[in-house]
Amino acid sequence: MKWKKQIQGLKAYQPGKTIKEVKNHNGLDCIVKLASNENPFGCPPEVLGILRDSSNALALYPDGSATKLRGILSSHLELDGNQLIFGNGSDELIKIISRSLLHKGTNTVMATPTFPQYRHNALIEGCEIREIPLLNGAHDLEGMLAAIDCDTAVVWLCSPNNPTGIYISENRILDFLERVPEDILVVLDEAYYEYVVADDYYHSPALVRMFKNLIVLRTFSKVYGLASLRIGYGFAHPGIIMALEPVREPFNVNSLALAAAEEAVKNQQFVETAKILNRQGMEQYEAFCKKHKLKFYSSQGNFILIDFSLNGDEIFQYLLENGFIVRSGQALGFPTTARITIGTAEQNRALLDALKVFLEARKAMLEGEPY
Ligand SMILES: *Cc1c(COP(=O)(O)O)cnc(C)c1O
Repeated sequence: MKWKKQIQGLKAYQPGKTIKEVKNHNGLDCIVKLASNENPFGCPPEVLGILRDSSNALALYPDGSATKLRGILSSHLELDGNQLIFGNGSDELIKIISRSLLHKGTNTVMATPTFPQYRHNALIEGCEIREIPLLNGAHDLEGMLAAIDCDTAVVWLCSPNNPTGIYISENRILDFLERVPEDILVVLDEAYYEYVVADDYYHSPALVRMFKNLIVLRTFSKVYGLASLRIGYGFAHPGIIMALEPVREPFNVNSLALAAAEEAVKNQQFVETAKILNRQGMEQYEAFCKKHKLKFYSSQGNFILIDFSLNGDEIFQYLLENGFIVRSGQALGFPTTARITIGTAEQNRALLDALKVFLEARKAMLEGEPY
């Protein structure tokens, strides 16, 4: 059959191991998954009640214009309703943007390593991909600007960046946006925005008011704890939303996801608490890294990329055998690292205790002592 050339040999997404798989394989009772940056505290408890109440609407198509959620979010963000677009996860918005702008003859500029879906979707559209290596885990914005030419259609920014957790400061992003030509769409993926504590972070709704060629992506999958329901949103100048809307499937976000998200946004106290506990967890990891002389990237997300100076698969495998699923850096473009999602204080403690045993055994081995 006549498959697009560029999808031949393209690999399907390799999801991390599920808790069930690991349980069956290792015979462990308790598995902690800290691999996909999900919220260890789940979702706001009020959402569960809402989901039960919504289940009688399953026979009906969802509200394709997300009227209620649009209203709630537009006042939350102080934007107009026509500045919002909803997706089946922000992953779907990445796809909609790619379908709308990328094709053979155009190019797209992004950092590397970054969130792999930008590249993946660009590949499917047959567009040229210009990947600019990170500098110490941060976007090389000068390098990205230099890679832009008149055939560039989309530039992708991820802040805080997955997998390093490093953010772009307000001054740097303003300078960047002022220099990108107006006919190039800049996508700013803020999947971890709610976790950021840095005070020189920008306010992206204000950026959207200033720049007509910027779209910001956010998600309910991370801090709101709704990853399985698949809902994310984008906000931009109304002109961008109007251009993208026809490419969106009419009923792309399901009723349960809409109802859950409406309730979740009302629970900003839940978000605030998750943010504080995440920071405390981050400090547990950072203190551990300093004590054990491990390099790590200073993260503003809910995950930390730690360099163990050995094959990340080895760390992954060791932790798996001890009941923890993390992400090996091998698949993330940082082969000697592992990316660990910040869990509850207890989960972090348990994981770090296991790591300590590993590191001490390894140290003893390197020093030639019996262990
Ligand atoms: C998790 C993540 C997403 C995907 O979120 P969904 O809304 O679940 O599709 C997007 N971007 C980044 C950087 C992420 O880490």
